[in-house]
Amino acid sequence: MNSVSRPGADQPIRGRASAGWVSTTPSVVSRLESADCGRVPFSVEFSPPRDEAAEARLWRAVREFEPMRPAFVSMTYGAGGTTRDRTVRVTGQIAAETTLLPVAHLTAVEHTVDELRALVGAYADCGVRNILALRGDPPGDPLGEWIKHQDGVEYAHELVSLVRDLGDFHVGVASFPEGHHRSPDLDHDTAHLVRKLRAGAEYSITQMFFDVEHFLRLRDRVDAYDPEQGAKPIIPELMPITSLRSVRRMVELSGSHLPKDLEERLTRAAGDGPEEDRQAVREVGIELATQMGERLIAEGAPCLHFITLNFARATREVLANLGLGVATV
Ligand SMILES: Cc1cc2nc3c(=O)[nH]c(=O)nc-3n(C[C@H](O)[C@H](O)[C@H](O)COP(=O)(O)OP(=O)(O)OC[C@H]3O[C@@H](n4cnc5c(N)ncnc54)[C@H](O)[C@@H]3O)c2cc1C
Repeated sequence: MNSVSRPGADQPIRGRASAGWVSTTPSVVSRLESADCGRVPFSVEFSPPRDEAAEARLWRAVREFEPMRPAFVSMTYGAGGTTRDRTVRVTGQIAAETTLLPVAHLTAVEHTVDELRALVGAYADCGVRNILALRGDPPGDPLGEWIKHQDGVEYAHELVSLVRDLGDFHVGVASFPEGHHRSPDLDHDTAHLVRKLRAGAEYSITQMFFDVEHFLRLRDRVDAYDPEQGAKPIIPELMPITSLRSVRRMVELSGSHLPKDLEERLTRAAGDGPEEDRQAVREVGIELATQMGERLIAEGAPCLHFITLNFARATREVLANLGLGVATV
């Protein structure tokens, strides 16, 4: 378990970053609402660094994105005690030492409720008030059987309630344009997304997808199921593809799909040499992410959220193509 300290008793968590009893940290939704007129905001996802070299790379990416004014930056949360400690520390440093608004992903995997409370307290202590509440996947095999910790939570909607009950936090959740791989069908999936929103989540960020129609249908489903919850922002997540091998793996683990014609195009670009032609794959990936971004903007997406894997270049190219995120002096 992490070395973060437990908050005292069952009291709301305030954290030293709060002004009095109420946090002054902006929420993701307020950032989206106050975005520059006429420009769709963007945001980026970082991954926790596993060692010092990776941490240096993360900071290079952070500093490259900072002047481009993303609406927020999110930090994923993974397995492993050391990395988890580092995740809390680095996310806190982003809050304290940069102008960026960090969103901490929090997963229920292998945590007791007490540990989850302690983690939320640790985030509050370092000024992080925006949390993406997730169930997480089973460690080892993300597609394997989910086994709830005996003192933990079963589903993300419980985590939403838990974080909200702890104090002045802004909570988001995950949504799945193609349906979550554990949901029997899209109706079930929609019902559970709405349940998370009704529990107090203010917005959702989608799983990556490669066909904008999936995103649009998700939005329609939520709206039809519960118009009040459907009014909350659904933020599409984009991943500029830079490697066929790694996107295949990510797609397999995430439960999303590469459309057949895109996979064929990427396979042709990769070539049949012993190593894939990364440059050619990258060109297809940037073009696709640009086209998807254009369509999403035209369809009124509230923000474009980019998976960066802690590299800035591909996302910056897509943003430049879209005329977004131009550095302001
Ligand atoms: C934007 C985004 C960011 C992510 N970041 C991370 C990360 O940082 N770290 C990480 O480990 N993983 C991350 N994930 C992956 C995520 O944790 C997994 O996809 C996980 O399997 C589902 O998490 P959830 O929060 O959607 O779970 P839940 O909302 O709990 O849903 C899990 C499954 O249970 C079903 N379900 C929910 N409630 C009920 C109920 N009451 N009864 C029956 N079935 C129910 C759902 O339909 C779904 O099939 C992320 C995913 C996304 C989209």
